[in-house]
Amino acid sequence: MTSLLGALNTASSSPARVLRCRNCSAEFPLIAVHACAECFGPLEVGYDADALASVTREQIEAGPQNIWRYAPLLPVGQNPDDRVTLNPGLTPLVRADRLAEAIGLNAPLWVKDDSANPTHSFKDRVVSLALTAAKGLGYNAVACASTGNLANSVAAHAARVGWQATVFIPSDLEPSKILASAIYNPRLVAVEGSYDDVNRLTSELQEDEAFESTAFVNQNVRPYYAEGSKTLGYEVAEQLGWRLPAQVVVPIASGSLLTKIDKAFSELIKGGLVAESPWRVFGAQSAGCSPVYAAFAEGHDVVRPVKPTGIAKSLNIGNPADGPYVLDAVRRTGGSIAAVSDDEIRDGIRLLAETTGIFGETAGGVTVAVLKKLVASGELDPNAETVIFNTGEGLKTADAVENQVGPTHRIAPSLRGAREAGLLS
Ligand SMILES: *Cc1c(COP(=O)(O)O)cnc(C)c1O
Ligand SMILES: [Zn+2]
Repeated sequence: MTSLLGALNTASSSPARVLRCRNCSAEFPLIAVHACAECFGPLEVGYDADALASVTREQIEAGPQNIWRYAPLLPVGQNPDDRVTLNPGLTPLVRADRLAEAIGLNAPLWVKDDSANPTHSFKDRVVSLALTAAKGLGYNAVACASTGNLANSVAAHAARVGWQATVFIPSDLEPSKILASAIYNPRLVAVEGSYDDVNRLTSELQEDEAFESTAFVNQNVRPYYAEGSKTLGYEVAEQLGWRLPAQVVVPIASGSLLTKIDKAFSELIKGGLVAESPWRVFGAQSAGCSPVYAAFAEGHDVVRPVKPTGIAKSLNIGNPADGPYVLDAVRRTGGSIAAVSDDEIRDGIRLLAETTGIFGETAGGVTVAVLKKLVASGELDPNAETVIFNTGEGLKTADAVENQVGPTHRIAPSLRGAREAGLLS
C-alpha cells in the first residue's frame, strides 16, 4: 500500500501537513497512498490551520487567472515550476435569469460553467493537482480509470509534459469522449466492462511491478486529486464577491466533487475569507445510476452498489467511493438528492442551452433536470440564491440529443425559397 517513492516535501510553502483517515482519523505522511493502513478508510489531506488562516483575499486576487491563485489553500503547486498543468479554472459564473424564470426560481440563479476548461470538463482541476503531486512524489508516468472526461484530461496533461499515460475506459463510452482521449496518443485501454470493473482492474494493476513508477490519479494519488475540486467552491465564492451561495446543486459520480465543494465553503469560513452564512448542498444523479439517491431516500448511511445504465455515462459509477460522505454533507446542510430519467436529462440539456447559451454534456442535463425537480417538489427554496454546476461540454455527448435537434427549415437559395418556408411576410 505504501509508496516506493518519496513523500512530498513539507518544508515547502505548502499548507498540507498529513494524510488523515476520514474514517478513524489516523494520520500518515504525505505519500502516494489513498487507503488507511488501520481501517482501509479513505485518506484526505490535512492542513496546518494557522497556514490556512493566514491566507488573504488580496493574496488570492493577485494570483494567476486560474486554479493556482488558490495555491496557498492547496497541497501542491505553490512553486509554478513544480506544476504539471494545463492551467484550468476561473471559468465563467453565468447569471441565468431566463433559466430561473423557466423553472420558477425567484432568486438569483447562477451556472458555474466548467465546460470552459482546457479539455472541457471540471476534471482538469483534479488532474492538475494529481499530476503535480505525482511529480513531487517522483513519478513521471500516469494512469487512470475513467468514465471519459478524466481520461481526456489525463491524456492531455501527460502530452503537455511528455509523460507516458495509460488510460482505462469502459469500451462503450461515447465516440467523442474516446476521440478526445485518443487524439493525445496515450495508451488507451478500452475494457469490456463497466466503470466499476475498470476501477477494480486498475487497483489490481497498481500493485504490479510493471506499474511501480506510475501514479494512478484516482487511486494512489487520490487524496491530492480530490483537493482540486475545492477550487470550484473557492471560485464561486470569489466570483460572488467573497460570499457563499445559499444553495448549490452538484452532480454525483464518485461523490468527490460534491464533498469538496462543501469542504471549500467550510475552509473559506474558517480562514475568514468569507462571512459565515449557511449553505445547503443538493446532489444530482441519473435514474440509471442512483445509488446515493437511493440511500438518501431510504434513510440509509451505507450506499448499496448498483449496475449503471443510461445516457449520463460520465456519472455512471455504481459503487461511489465518497457516497457515505455525500450523505453526510447533504444531511448536515439540510439539502437533498434527486434522480432524473434519460428523457428528463435530454430536456435538461436543451433547457440549459435554450435559456443560457450553454451547451452542457449529459451531466449538466442531469443537474438542470434535478434543479427543476427539486424546485417543483419544494425541497429547494425558490427564494434563495442558487448555484448549479455544468461540469462538462455538450459536444462530447452530442449523441444524447442529436436526434432531437437539427435544421428547422430547408430552403432553396432564393428569396422565393425563403418566402415559401414562411421566413418572409
Ligand atoms: C467526473 C465527473 C463528475 C463527478 O465527479 P465525482 O467527483 O466523481 O463525483 C461530474 N460531471 C462530470 C462531467 C464528470 O466528468
Ligand atoms: Zn482509518
